[in-house]
Amino acid sequence: MAGPPIRIQDTLTGGLRELEPRREGRVGIYVCGPTVYGRIHVGNARPYVMFALFKRFLEHEGYDVTLVENVTDINDKIYAAARERGVASGVLAQEMAALYRADTDRLGLERPDSEPLASETLAEIVALIEALIDSGHAYESGGDVYFSVRSFAGYGKLSNRRLEDLAPQDQGEEPDEGKARKRDPLDFALWKAHKPDEDTSWESPWGPGRPGWHIECSAMSEKVLGLDFEIHGGGSDLVFPHHENEIAQTEAARGLPLARIWMHNGMIRFGEEKMAKSVGNVATLADALDRHGRDALVAFFLGGHYRQPLAYSEERMEEAAQALRRLTEFDRLLARAGDLAAGDSGPGTEALREEFLAALRDDFNTPKALAALFKLVAEGNRRLGAGEPLPGAAAVFAELLQVLGLETLRDRVEEIDEEALRLLGEREDARRSRDFDRADAVRAELLSRGWVVRDTPEGPVLVPAE
Ligand SMILES: [Zn+2]
Repeated sequence: MAGPPIRIQDTLTGGLRELEPRREGRVGIYVCGPTVYGRIHVGNARPYVMFALFKRFLEHEGYDVTLVENVTDINDKIYAAARERGVASGVLAQEMAALYRADTDRLGLERPDSEPLASETLAEIVALIEALIDSGHAYESGGDVYFSVRSFAGYGKLSNRRLEDLAPQDQGEEPDEGKARKRDPLDFALWKAHKPDEDTSWESPWGPGRPGWHIECSAMSEKVLGLDFEIHGGGSDLVFPHHENEIAQTEAARGLPLARIWMHNGMIRFGEEKMAKSVGNVATLADALDRHGRDALVAFFLGGHYRQPLAYSEERMEEAAQALRRLTEFDRLLARAGDLAAGDSGPGTEALREEFLAALRDDFNTPKALAALFKLVAEGNRRLGAGEPLPGAAAVFAELLQVLGLETLRDRVEEIDEEALRLLGEREDARRSRDFDRADAVRAELLSRGWVVRDTPEGPVLVPAE
């Protein structure tokens, strides 16, 4: 059974909407994934992390969630990048898709439930285009097929654009691309006839060619989740034309909404600009993981509300690392506090737990949830540090860390228990028997494992070596 209502800012209606599943307790989410023509950067990783964590939260609330993130492996950008590198486009797409999976695996957030490829959805794409032609919303022209924008009355409703304000290049195509074959300059391509400089093509009723980008997502989302599913997500840069066109295609062909809620994440900035390959100011996800580790990267994303732009910088990453150190220290305090922090939650911990969950139920406000978590840390430091009980602190802390994808902090503390804590005890024994050479040797061994011994009034503790 699902819990209290969950509200999400919906780009389509422009307001908060309550999550109302088609089937009680089940939520389908489709997120536009990467176009695989290069390594993904920190900006591309934001929707991956954010929707993985949103799924975790929904599961915590009792929902059964299916998260779908496609991989666009047929696209203009892939042909261009492959030509530049002198490799076959299919080879490049496969190589980059494998690297995308390897890079995102390192985030330790589990894979989406389904990761459909455009190249494996051709039959559904062709069938959807045929349905659009049959219903008069699309037409074939010289081996291309175009969507007739003016045939769909709702066009522009997602991005609040009026047809009279649109220019052909707004469709993300070259100004003269298909110009001669379009009936109306605002129309966009569903199918593109094979061009001599493209090294792949697929058979269709309109001759060999390949699908346009927008129709791929309409077909893949319907194939896996059906129609009128709960949440369609992606970066705010996809609202127009990509998502506007997805809506037009699916609604025109099927007469049903594509999705109920349109949930968009803000862009990652590098200085003043959006992080984008086209701008050339990218930090790859792999580099960021090498430099900062997955915990700091997850904490960095949690520190900003998903809809707001977020600046990636060394300062912000250091802030994230500091927040993690406070959480790790607190987990060690909980371990030392033992019974004082054990048991079911009492009024103090339960109120903070509720505050945390209420923040996430209100448009997945992770900064507000983090603030509630740090209130628990402050209260715990005060009470447990003074030797007073805070019932349930250990269990609630572990539960909330898991929702945020930071339970790995606790694994690290448990690792200390097994290996380093034994050494720490050995050092204490050596000191007590005044065998200082042995004590120093153990300290050196701990350092080689990445731990520094810090002597505190409560006894020696281990802190990560800097
Ligand atoms: Zn898409």
